[in-house]
Amino acid sequence: VIEHGMPDRSVKTTCAFCGVGCSFNAEVKGDKVVRMVPNKEGGANHGHSCVKGRFAWVYVYSKDRVTKPMLRKSIDEPWREVSWEEAINYVANEFRRIQEKYGKYSIGAITSSRCTNEEVYTIQKLVRAVFGNNNVDTCARVCHSPTGYGLKAAFGTSAGTNNFDSVLFADVIMVIGANPTEGHPVFGALLKRRLREGAKLIVIDPRKIELVKTPHIRADYHLQLKPGTNVAILNAMAHTIVSEGLENREFIEKRCDTEAYKKWREFILRPENSPEAVEKIAGVPAELIRGAARLYATGGRAAIYYGLGVTEHTQGTTAVLALANLAMLTGNVGREGTGVNPLRGQNNVQGSCDMGSFPHEFSGYRHVSDPEVRKLFEDAWGVSIDPEPGLRIPNMWMLALEGKFKGIYIQGEDVLQSDPDVHRVVEALKSMECVVVHDIFMNETAKYAHVFLPGCSFLEKDGTFTNAERRIQLVRQVIPPMCGKQEWEVVMEIAKAMGYNMHYNHASEIMDEIARLTPTFSGVSYEKLERLGSIQWPCNEKAPEGTPIMHKDSFVRGKGMFHITAFVPSPERTTERYPLLLTTGRTLFQYNVGTQTRRTPNVVWYKEDVLEIHPNDAEERGIKDGDYVKLESRKGWVILKAKISDRVAPGVVYTTFHFPEIRINVVTTDYSDWATNCPEYKVTAVQVTPVYQK
Ligand code: SF4
Repeated sequence: VIEHGMPDRSVKTTCAFCGVGCSFNAEVKGDKVVRMVPNKEGGANHGHSCVKGRFAWVYVYSKDRVTKPMLRKSIDEPWREVSWEEAINYVANEFRRIQEKYGKYSIGAITSSRCTNEEVYTIQKLVRAVFGNNNVDTCARVCHSPTGYGLKAAFGTSAGTNNFDSVLFADVIMVIGANPTEGHPVFGALLKRRLREGAKLIVIDPRKIELVKTPHIRADYHLQLKPGTNVAILNAMAHTIVSEGLENREFIEKRCDTEAYKKWREFILRPENSPEAVEKIAGVPAELIRGAARLYATGGRAAIYYGLGVTEHTQGTTAVLALANLAMLTGNVGREGTGVNPLRGQNNVQGSCDMGSFPHEFSGYRHVSDPEVRKLFEDAWGVSIDPEPGLRIPNMWMLALEGKFKGIYIQGEDVLQSDPDVHRVVEALKSMECVVVHDIFMNETAKYAHVFLPGCSFLEKDGTFTNAERRIQLVRQVIPPMCGKQEWEVVMEIAKAMGYNMHYNHASEIMDEIARLTPTFSGVSYEKLERLGSIQWPCNEKAPEGTPIMHKDSFVRGKGMFHITAFVPSPERTTERYPLLLTTGRTLFQYNVGTQTRRTPNVVWYKEDVLEIHPNDAEERGIKDGDYVKLESRKGWVILKAKISDRVAPGVVYTTFHFPEIRINVVTTDYSDWATNCPEYKVTAVQVTPVYQK
């Protein structure tokens, strides 16, 4: 129900959906939010917003909100409402009991990219300082972990290179594996503005996304590749650039590791990387690949924007490295209008990774095995810290199935909807003795939980989010927490109940600690964020007001590093039984697994996930538009509505993943990225058959 009327007050805060990070004024009448108005001073949105952010506040008042802690000894019992004190003591006692029985490595936690930096930081501190291990991982494991790995290896830091506004200086824009006008609408609009001004556009995507052809915009090149062949295409583009002498030799000599470049050059000139060879793999005509490569190399300032269509593959990290190779090869890094820019799906993917919630890294991406860094944290926290990296999420499930991992704290993440191989996750959760879910709604994962801790929406807490362009912005409490406690307070109380004195009076004190212990954040404070509106890290003595564009004069790692990116096909293959390839994506109106947007008026525009299928494939199977079809893979099947569309090529089908009724990850494979275990959600061999005709 949307209420109208003149507000009594307005509070500036930050959207909690996608990685654009739009700034809004939440307008309040009495004690209720009545409207969200985009803020003209927002560094990322300049007064714009999308349909998700506009109605974001509505789900906050959903009747489904859980506001009381709940317990049950076994998942077969009904939930019992309890006091915060009882819930917190129960969690603390259970975690200690499990550690005494099964050892200190038998418990861990998953952090959420939807929560604030401060909340994520306190969870990883709970794990490292109180649990005594490094078993903390982030939900970014299943989306942008290859970005973290790849950009760090190539450039020296796990983050996008440029600010969003930089796109207004680009002459050539390359969008690969992303659909900005639906997934990141406000940035998508900025990008369209630049295209209308005349910038050239290369789209690399198995699907005709809106940008390929929309009023006043037509992609100069659409490389409609077969799902799973990004690396082959990027190598063929690099092959063209080198073999035609279009590389930026001065940039390579001055800014890059020339020994690594020489080896890479030999590799990239091999015949298997030629456009003709890749045409056979990716199904894209060699001349189109050549044309796109020439445009990227010679068209002026060229900027790359990419999304999960790059990362969620067995070669996700390889593809990120291949993008970095292309940018260095042509000198398209360190200036406005250039760069390698990941479009993060969730509001705080960048932040949750920055805050040390990977099992091998402290905040600021410093390895746990580094004794100097460990000492810094040990002195600050008054504990000794395990030097061994902890478990990644898939390893947590694996050890649970082996009976060695028995307790987990899951912060704001519905792993049953977002992790691959749902059946295995269910069995893993069932095998545990204490599953704690901290969330605002009863979600699919909570069906297997023993403790449900109610969380706060973004309107009920103070903190910060860091968007896809490294911009840290304040999240301000607009209304009191419906459940009575902010998440960091709950974590602090669990730590205390487990015998460790974690104490903060306000989220700003957590940021002060982050700044003390993290060189890239050392100049960040709430006072400065209030004063400047936002800050793009690194923010420290060298850059007291932040850094919109990174790697300007030299790379963070010193010399830029070329990596050999040999194409290895996905083990997932089509067969006679499973002849089509399924790939997935987002729609404008819904956000991720839809927990929030399904509880807003956005359902008016998008009510269910549908399966896009090419007219030829539909006709062959006797499927008409609107028919319900069975989508079946080697892993499982789901039923959903067919939409006949030539946005997908013959042989490819596509769906979104916003509704729990579909649970598309029942179908997807358990293959994952070689470096980071990011699941391969974008390539699944399937068959589609009609089950119910209109
Ligand atoms: Fe902005 Fe993204 Fe929120 Fe839309 S969903 S208002 S683009 S931050």
